[in-house]
Amino acid sequence: MEDKSYNPYQNAQAQFDRVAEMIGLDDAARQFLRQPMKEYHFTIPVHMDDGSTKIFNGYRIQHNDARGPAKGGIRFHPQETVDTVRALAMWMTWKCAAVDIPLGGGKGGVICNPRDMTEGEQERLCRGFVRRIAKDVGPFIDVPAPDVMTNAKHMLWMLDEFEQIHGGRYPGFITGKPVGMGGSLGRTEATGYGVIYTVREALKSMGLDIKGTTASIQGSGNVAQYAARLFQELGGKVVSVACWDAADQKAYSYCKNDGLDAEMLGEITDSYGTIDKEKACDIGCTLTPQDAWLEQDADILIPAAMENQINMTNVHKISKQVKIIAEGANGPINTEADEVIRNSGIFVIPDFLCNAGGVTCSYFEQVQSNMNYYWEKEEVLQKLDTKMTSAFKAIKEVSERNQLYMRDAAYFISINRVAQAVKMRGWV
Ligand code: GLU
Repeated sequence: MEDKSYNPYQNAQAQFDRVAEMIGLDDAARQFLRQPMKEYHFTIPVHMDDGSTKIFNGYRIQHNDARGPAKGGIRFHPQETVDTVRALAMWMTWKCAAVDIPLGGGKGGVICNPRDMTEGEQERLCRGFVRRIAKDVGPFIDVPAPDVMTNAKHMLWMLDEFEQIHGGRYPGFITGKPVGMGGSLGRTEATGYGVIYTVREALKSMGLDIKGTTASIQGSGNVAQYAARLFQELGGKVVSVACWDAADQKAYSYCKNDGLDAEMLGEITDSYGTIDKEKACDIGCTLTPQDAWLEQDADILIPAAMENQINMTNVHKISKQVKIIAEGANGPINTEADEVIRNSGIFVIPDFLCNAGGVTCSYFEQVQSNMNYYWEKEEVLQKLDTKMTSAFKAIKEVSERNQLYMRDAAYFISINRVAQAVKMRGWV
């Protein structure tokens, strides 16, 4: 259910302000970093298959590019808002800084529902989006990628439009491209796998082995699916998956105490992440109301769907057994609920560390595209694991040394890195 009172941008700013105050960031840097440096708001007319023309609203927001070109996905979502895109752009800046890759932060969004659009309409929307901002993005300015309800096919249409406009081949303009068309092996898996690399490290730091642990996941899109697969491969058991059902317009939790098979689950999930209810029952799932995923006696909760999913209406439902919350989604816990979780002692792996695997692999994709030489999948995933693990360890170390909540520790590192870049450039 949409919560009109929730504003992700205010959430992102409150998180930033808290740590900016703690580290004594000066006023100019604070003013500069607590809002995006550039915003593009535009309309995209699309000729629909029925002969009508529909006008869509689109946004591209560049939060900061002091450490490198702005970087971040484009979301297609019916409830998209400009403030959501602002928050997500800001989180991208911290994300790239947290894993120490030479990129800034940006995000895009279009208010639309791709479920109701044909392939042709989606292609025209992608091309229209690029036409609006073609002069303001590019390999050295701002590099888009896939996000909620966008995929490799959308990226290739966008790349093609950009290349038609600029007259040349610019594979570094966009990431998340199809493999064989400038994409990187491992990019599809990267975000979900990255989540599990950080979960593995968090468990290790508690003296626990991932083998035999249980997880409850919210979401059944790309991030959730690959997180479930790797978690299972490493010996964990997924006891519940919650997802939105577009036909019923509500969410369900699919539970199975002896473990859901991630591969099987993937087979009964459509390309927008909706699970086939009947088939889920056939493989032994019990269908329970939406918040049941939080109440599972699982060791790990992985919210990997959308923002504001854990809030004051449901935070108290979290099972006492939960030791770790791994934020696969961006901003899944709202400010007030985060305060409750912070005081509960649950170990939180904050979003911009936990789900940084996607953008890290996007960075690898750019490197490969620039060299025009592509690595084997094992090499990509090995490099990804190394990057995620060392980022986790660095943040954990700051958290221990300064007695900080993991989210604050991650902000501590990222804000310092970005503020330093901004100052070294002489901007503030
Ligand atoms: N959309 C992903 C994210 O939120 C990936 C962004 C990228 O690859 O640039 O991190």
